Amino acid sequence: MLSFLYCYCISIMDFWSPDIEAMPLDELKELQLRRLQKTVRRAYDTNEAYHRLFKEAGVAPGDIRSLDDLARLPFLTKDDLRHYYPFGLLCVETDDCVELHASSGTTGTPVVGPYTRGDVEVWTEVMARALWANGMRQSDVLQNAYGYGLFTGAHGFEKGAQRIGALVVPIGSGNTRRQITLMKDFGTTALSCTPSYSLYMAEVAREMGFDPREDFRLRLGLFGAEAWSDEMRAKIEEEWGIVAHEHYGLTEIIGPGVVTECSHKRLHVNADHFVTEIIDPQTGEQLPPGEEGELVFTTVTKEAFPAIRFRTGDIARYSEEPCACGRTLPVQSRIKGRSDDMMKIKGVIVFPSQIEAAIMAVEGTSGNYQLVKRKQREMNSLSIKIEPTEERHAQGHLDDLAQKIEEEVYAVLNLHIPVEVVPPNTIPRSLGKAKRVVEE
Ligand SMILES: [Zn+2]
Repeated sequence: MLSFLYCYCISIMDFWSPDIEAMPLDELKELQLRRLQKTVRRAYDTNEAYHRLFKEAGVAPGDIRSLDDLARLPFLTKDDLRHYYPFGLLCVETDDCVELHASSGTTGTPVVGPYTRGDVEVWTEVMARALWANGMRQSDVLQNAYGYGLFTGAHGFEKGAQRIGALVVPIGSGNTRRQITLMKDFGTTALSCTPSYSLYMAEVAREMGFDPREDFRLRLGLFGAEAWSDEMRAKIEEEWGIVAHEHYGLTEIIGPGVVTECSHKRLHVNADHFVTEIIDPQTGEQLPPGEEGELVFTTVTKEAFPAIRFRTGDIARYSEEPCACGRTLPVQSRIKGRSDDMMKIKGVIVFPSQIEAAIMAVEGTSGNYQLVKRKQREMNSLSIKIEPTEERHAQGHLDDLAQKIEEEVYAVLNLHIPVEVVPPNTIPRSLGKAKRVVEE
């Protein structure tokens, strides 16, 4: 018992914000409620659009007496954000903002994320909390290979790592050979980028004559901005000889820093700032903990642009069960996919991440694959292109490999999806988010 207590105290002492991360759940919920009430009141009083949306839903700030009353508030959708672009949902003066980010806008009007000084402080703290939990310390050298610019990713990692006191190398994305050279020269210990890019970097390192496992000081991978499977994680960890951690966030909420992944690889929601709901994507009804549905977030400390009941389109589960790491912060599962990524193939719901998991379970496959979607009359059909590893390619008998993958996919989805094995280095590589699904 004593040794248990000892371990418990040690782990708690090692949290970045122990007061919050190990706060009893009922206290945490009281804190959430107080902050939610304040946020709703402020949005209603200061912002015309929120005022009208709440009125139309027949709800006033005084109606929010418990966290359950969240369900009385209207949802905020991506379309709403586009409608109020760029500053229609701002709850402060633009003069009060000190930083602005935006999504790429490749699928329409970009989403704008303005920050006050207070918002930047919250962002910095939640990122430091997450990176500390991943094992980052002052002695680390972070190679920050997310794209700098309007995208939140790189900036969030930089802020959090600097708060810890680590050395940040703001290299940005691209120029992969230079990345490898500097990784060696600067003694990089932590790498932040998309998971698919980290695999490409390992490929380039090999081309340059390095052994990714032996020739670098790298020990931590901090990956996000893509849905990636546990099997992909194992592959990356094996390839680089590192521990790979997931980061999750959205421009609408704060950028990266929405969750903290612990050493047990569970995603703890930073629930002192973000309140989670899981809803049925079709009906919008709240679902109980443990059920799979669409993630909805409400920010309860954000000043410039509080997102109230924002529908993320991301499919996951939520749980308030305790975690062995000692954190009481609730847990969300890894993202199965965006509801936009969901495909219906011969009547079966398919997420690219499920296919990825099946592919990666077969020995001899690399992390490079592409799903080719075709629309034939009213039916969608799908096929898979995958690259084997160099060694597996050299062995030949690639039909066997294709068949094994087909069987593995069938075991997961109960669907026969044709698999084409293509030579190594033929599927285009991405420096940011990989394009896993192409339409023909
Ligand atoms: Zn944990």
